[in-house]
Amino acid sequence: MSEKSFENGGCPASSEAVTSSVYAEARASETPALEDIRKGLPSASGLQRLVLCPGSWRAEALYPEKEESAAAAAGTRLHKHMELGTLPEDAEEAEACMWCCKSERALVEEYIGEVELVYREQRLWDNCQRFSGQEDVVYIGGGKALVIDYKFGRGSVVEARQNCQLYGLSLLVFDNYPEVEEVYAGILQPFVSRERPRLMRLERADEKGLRSYIYGALDAAQSEGAALKPGETQCKYCRAAGSCPALGLTVARASAMELTRWEQWSPEERRKAWDASRLAKKYVEAIERKIRADLEAGVELPGLELGEGKVSFVVDDAAGAFGVLNAMLDVTGEEFTAYCKVGMTGLDKLVHAKLVAQAPEGVKQTTKASREWLRNTLASYGSVKTTAGTIKER
Ligand code: SF4
Repeated sequence: MSEKSFENGGCPASSEAVTSSVYAEARASETPALEDIRKGLPSASGLQRLVLCPGSWRAEALYPEKEESAAAAAGTRLHKHMELGTLPEDAEEAEACMWCCKSERALVEEYIGEVELVYREQRLWDNCQRFSGQEDVVYIGGGKALVIDYKFGRGSVVEARQNCQLYGLSLLVFDNYPEVEEVYAGILQPFVSRERPRLMRLERADEKGLRSYIYGALDAAQSEGAALKPGETQCKYCRAAGSCPALGLTVARASAMELTRWEQWSPEERRKAWDASRLAKKYVEAIERKIRADLEAGVELPGLELGEGKVSFVVDDAAGAFGVLNAMLDVTGEEFTAYCKVGMTGLDKLVHAKLVAQAPEGVKQTTKASREWLRNTLASYGSVKTTAGTIKER
């Protein structure tokens, strides 16, 4: 199948397994992005997707990163602050960086002790130059290494002990630092969890199995017939999602389901429909992003145009706003606060910082205890609201 037919066809009308051979022709003519520091080879950050969907490596190569999304740009900026040891101007971001530093120090003390070497934002290659990875920070001391990966997104990531990126980063440490006999690796994600991160632990004796696992995944991804295997985790941020035939096929199957027969479906069929609907959502979102990019670039699409963004006014300085309205219109404090909403996320952080500062020496004030204290203290000034539960996978 040519690139053109792939782009136009979207979903092949076939139930055969879809493989990345649909990308082979296009990939052959594809030149790697300008100064590709990854040399056109897989990176540790892409290993999770590549393991779950071997064909994704060829598929994504067709869609080089153009512009960073706002969230990705914020992540890059915060990584830079962590590398340079500086703090962002934004108070919430600054607090997140400080939390990372504090958690990092605690982990270093616990797992490394005396630090002999520290590397930040260093790209390492494996012994056979088959893949590389950018280590956010690596501490080495006493034959041990601590690898920390910062994630500044708001979505949770695969747990450390099953995280292929951490497996890849650990192998890179074994390959580049022969003195290291033991690697601990974990993720700090301040906007998702403030719990102590769980760490993956690997010994030098694990290196052979680790290499064989990763190289096996790379072999599968680089083979002509690498399978495209849709799934929520791997398709979530895949750049090929909007044009992927396997994902398109899954969506086509999902939309062909006769929902009127729902009552006759077994629980397993209903669960399958759920999985298909998650993928369909990713596909639709990917198409929406592409349509938006087209319209922003001035591409004419029949019957579609970019509407104007909604304009709204937000009060950033509530005290200042009250002062003005009180002076000019005699608005009372009670009248004004009836229209104010308290952001509990911000207030939780503020109160936790105050309680930590007040805590007697040696007493550990946890974020959980601070949250409970705040809710109990303000119980008569607020109410508890419960939304409908979200559907979660067990
Ligand atoms: S969209 Fe999903 S199935 Fe398609 S290449 Fe990407 S990860 Fe694989």
